[in-house]
This record gives sequence, C-alpha cells and structure tokens, in this order.
Amino acid sequence: MDCLFCKIANKEVSSEIVYEDDKFVAFKDIAPKAPTHFLIVPRKHIASIDHVEIEDKTLMGELILVAQKIAREKSLKGYKLLINVGRGGGQIIDHLHLHLLSGRPTQLP
Ligand code: AMP
Ligand code: ZN
Repeated sequence: MDCLFCKIANKEVSSEIVYEDDKFVAFKDIAPKAPTHFLIVPRKHIASIDHVEIEDKTLMGELILVAQKIAREKSLKGYKLLINVGRGGGQIIDHLHLHLLSGRPTQLP
C-alpha cells in the first residue's frame, strides 16, 4: 500500500520518531504549526476516523493514552489534541493521525 504514514511507521521513510511501541508510532510533524507538534499514528492502517470500526475501539482509547504518555515524558505544560477527518475537515494524509500540539500554535493543522 502506498501510504506515507505506513512507510514512516515501517521506517521505509525517515522521520524524527519521538515514541513507538507495538501499536503506535509518534514523530515530529515536518511542517510544525506550534513549538511542539507531533503526529501519533496507529501502525494499523486506518484511513480516517470515518473508517474506524467497532473492533478499533480499544485502539482509539490507547491512542489518547499514548498522547498523554508522550506529553508527560516531554513535560508539556498543556497541549491540544486534534484529528482532521476527510478533505472537508482538512485531512491531507489518509492514515489516521492525532496531532499533539503544545505552545502557541501559529495556525491550525
Ligand atoms: P492532516 O492535514 O491532518 O492530514 O495532517 C497531515 C500532517 O502531516 C501535516 O501537518 C503535515 O505537515 C504532516 N506531514 C506531511 N508529510 C510529512 C512527513 N513526511 N513527515 C512528518 N510530517 C508530515
Ligand atoms: Zn497507512
């Protein structure tokens, strides 16, 4: 499958990885919109929130916990979590990803 974030998760494409475990990879956004801007992706290819199935409900909860874990590890003083869904929602990459932003954003991702 020709998916950029699958390739980043598999390390076929290089990125600045800040966290990984058996289910998730987090890396620095290439065009940061805030002083801290990470993307957290499940290793499982899910195109968007609109493609999440009931079998993914645990994974979706774990996604939030990974964000919390990274924020704690990085001692972030507060943060925003954002998911764009579909072209109309600003989603450019069709592999579900959670934006983790901290510090004053220059614009919305
Ligand atoms: P979205 O608009 O929600 O689909 O967000 C996609 C994000 O992926 C944008 O913030 C881009 O800056 C980011 N992005 C695109 N290509 C890369 C890449 N190769 N490495 C890291 N981030 C990327
Ligand atoms: Zn993918």
